[in-house]
Amino acid sequence: MTIRRGDTVKVISGKDKGKQGKVLRCVPEKQRVVVEKVNFMKKAMRPTQQNPQGGISTIEAPIHVSNVMLVCPSCGEATRVARRRDDGKLVRVCKKCGKDIPAVQD
Ligand SMILES: [Zn+2]
Repeated sequence: MTIRRGDTVKVISGKDKGKQGKVLRCVPEKQRVVVEKVNFMKKAMRPTQQNPQGGISTIEAPIHVSNVMLVCPSCGEATRVARRRDDGKLVRVCKKCGKDIPAVQD
């Protein structure tokens, strides 16, 4: 996957087409990502200690990576990503402006 947690992505298909958000979580084995404020789903919650009432809440559901494009932090465009090796590390490169796209550290 070329998309990492903390990246900003743009949704290119589905009901949230055109929205931009931050990647909250990646599910590489399913090629899916959870994007902030995208693909909200209603979910029935069981009562827990934190939420003794239970009930319905809305959460972001994962969407397939093919439905999003990475937004380059340098040029601000939704872009495809090239990769190159730099000192043995894979660096992502914006295909629009040619600048490196650093992974967000947290
Ligand atoms: Zn760029």
